[in-house]
Amino acid sequence: MIQVLRNCRMLLPGRKVCSGDIVVDTVSGTIKEVASGGFGGRGESEIDLSGHLVMPGLINCHCHAPMTLVRGLGGGLPLQRWLEEAIFPVEARMSDEDVRAGAAWGAMEMLSGGTTCVADMYDHDYGQVFVDTGLRARFCVPGLSIVPGRLEQCITATRDWNRWMHDDVKGDVYMDVCIHSEYLTDENFCRGLAEANKELKRRLHFHCSETRREHEECIARHGKTPIAYLADTGILDNGGYAAHCVWCTDDDFRIMAERDVALVHNPTSNMKLGSGFARIVRARELGVNVALGTDGTASNDNLDMFEEMHLASLIHKGLANDPTVLSPWDVVEMATVNGAKALGRDDIGEIAVGKKADLCVVDLDRLHLAPALDIANLVVHSMHSSDVVMTFVGGRRIDLKNKAEAKAKLLAAVKRLGLIK
Ligand SMILES: [Zn+2]
Repeated sequence: MIQVLRNCRMLLPGRKVCSGDIVVDTVSGTIKEVASGGFGGRGESEIDLSGHLVMPGLINCHCHAPMTLVRGLGGGLPLQRWLEEAIFPVEARMSDEDVRAGAAWGAMEMLSGGTTCVADMYDHDYGQVFVDTGLRARFCVPGLSIVPGRLEQCITATRDWNRWMHDDVKGDVYMDVCIHSEYLTDENFCRGLAEANKELKRRLHFHCSETRREHEECIARHGKTPIAYLADTGILDNGGYAAHCVWCTDDDFRIMAERDVALVHNPTSNMKLGSGFARIVRARELGVNVALGTDGTASNDNLDMFEEMHLASLIHKGLANDPTVLSPWDVVEMATVNGAKALGRDDIGEIAVGKKADLCVVDLDRLHLAPALDIANLVVHSMHSSDVVMTFVGGRRIDLKNKAEAKAKLLAAVKRLGLIK
């Protein structure tokens, strides 16, 4: 079926903004034509988007969607105390059902704010949530050495899920391999997963050099930075994406560029937990692909990728005393096409013929968006996720009609966890 999005402004590859129509083939879920002068044909379905901007769907490259269950819990504590005193005790009580309720709510929050693809890391069996909500996902079970049998569990879960997903096309939800971090795994775990990944061939999702303490303790343990140590175990051989990288060195960035490991910048989370500022301008200079992520809602406390774009843009101009270090287009690309590359994909992240029709539609008729003079600047510095009025994943318009039911499940889970009466 052909669907035509008429009369919109659109963000196109090559940093262009045009007005016209987007033609979507809803059977293949791809973009059939980008008609900047207008599409002459008719579609089985047409939507007039005058006064709207259509952007590529946003790609959130580091999230823990189930953490909506603990949104804002333990605010104000430093990272280690925040984890040990506020987060871990509640997580230890979570059932699969609780986790699914939190993940579904997180997926809906992302979709409503224009995010069409997520890289998510969490324990429990919750991949089906992404299939059900229609959010594209790369999720993973965090690799941890302290849990007996976890290495085998990670390998089997990844193999089985991807085989199941592949055998019968149910959506675009695949499992990547994962280690939580250098400090929660040991060398045997990393080498074992690296060996299994020769067959699994997935990208690695991991936390890296988030705090100074973590970075320095790794050097004390192994005589190497986390990136250098992990590279030596072979676990980066198939590429991947590393969240945070606040304390990474220039040499770490060189290794990341060489091994196709993207840096996922999480500015809100790093500031809220007082971790510092990832040196993304330097990373980009050294050839690292920099993408964006929200992290979980316990350290953010929302899943608004517009807010991450806004902060990423401002922080680095301020730190460098130089407003030219990142352009608005650089930042838009971090949230879209760079995210696609981070996840090893060339079929999402841009509005172009043949790409998946993952689209985010913003209503430009808002007080804080007029006059729309410089669209990329407007996206990064003026827009909020609440300005998004429609989201399409693979040409399918996302309908959040189950919101009330999802909210009831979320609240029931939060109650079971003893966080509300
Ligand atoms: Zn994280």
